[in-house]
Amino acid sequence: MRPILVINSGSSSLKYQLVDVDSSVALQSGLIERVTDHAMAFKQMIQELGDVSPLAIGHRVVHGGSEFSKPVIIDNAVIARIKELSSLAPLHNPGHVAGIEGAVAAFPELVQVAVFDTAFHQTMPVESYRYAIDQKLADEYGIRRYGFHGTSHAFVAQKTAEFLGKDLSELNAIILHLGNGASASAIKNGESINTSMGLTPLQGLVMGTRSGDIDPAIVAYLERVAKMSIDEVDASLNKNAGLKGLTGDSDLRDVESRAKAGDQVAIDALAVYSMRIKHYIGAYLAQIGPIDALVFTAGVGENSVEMRSQITSGLEHLGIKIDAAKNQLRDKSAREISVEGASVKVLVVPTNEELAIALQTAEFLS
Ligand code: ADP
Repeated sequence: MRPILVINSGSSSLKYQLVDVDSSVALQSGLIERVTDHAMAFKQMIQELGDVSPLAIGHRVVHGGSEFSKPVIIDNAVIARIKELSSLAPLHNPGHVAGIEGAVAAFPELVQVAVFDTAFHQTMPVESYRYAIDQKLADEYGIRRYGFHGTSHAFVAQKTAEFLGKDLSELNAIILHLGNGASASAIKNGESINTSMGLTPLQGLVMGTRSGDIDPAIVAYLERVAKMSIDEVDASLNKNAGLKGLTGDSDLRDVESRAKAGDQVAIDALAVYSMRIKHYIGAYLAQIGPIDALVFTAGVGENSVEMRSQITSGLEHLGIKIDAAKNQLRDKSAREISVEGASVKVLVVPTNEELAIALQTAEFLS
């Protein structure tokens, strides 16, 4: 038994999972909410864990900027850098730092590793990550596409290669991570060459409560014409947009059941949601060239039969065609849902970010 403790610490919550990496099994997990003092939250977690003691700790960190392209062992310099990167991820990095400091205090003898959501996308070429804005501003403020969900995209890319019996370095694919947050990634030769999220997780696909792509002039327009403050605009686009903004409901299940009952608002929202994804599939096919697989993952991607069908409909001319019966099957393992003989395999590959963090942390022990 080699359990790794995976920590996802937010500003007011502490999520943990104890993972046995040899069997890939989650032994224990918990969520402590309304945290005001991370040291207290760690005391509670240690109580909940009982007499199990972890071998090492892996921390999920949302923003690693341009310097972290792989997991690192945490020391004071790393903590200071994650703190500095808070300007790019004000809702996430401060909570991670509090969690890391709490964990270092509680387990001073253990190796602790930071695993970054941005790391996998550091292989993007300049034409994918650079915004066409004043480069003096971009350089001074670190403005570029970073991309997120990297731990999931990397894990799913590896699982996809295994499923297809290929070496990861030979995999060309488009991965659709569709959860509350959602992002697409373009994988060429096993590496990320583009992804839909940007400087922050606001860009790209339509999400539960985030707008994804909009005309950037909308921000100034709302400030000038609707007299909203910049914080109000920011909050609206992050928390009151996406499916929530379109329909009032952020959970795709609710939107789908309203659409089934004939609610036109919900029907239109599903069309907007799926059309945005089609745009990215088209764009990434043009950038990657021929792909082996189109891969669905995360809550929506793994579970919504209707959304997988809506996204792939009309893409037959691109070699993408799903088998309606296979699409209906529910299964926890990786599976193919495309028709026999299609040039692109459409797959459902469950993601597991905690396991991915545990595996990457365990590598530092061997
Ligand atoms: P998170 O980004 O919070 O990790 P998940 O990956 O768990 O989110 O995805 C959550 C979303 O998955 C929910 O908002 C819900 O809309 C969607 N979802 C889960 N199960 C289903 C289902 N059976 N049908 C449609 N959507 C689903």
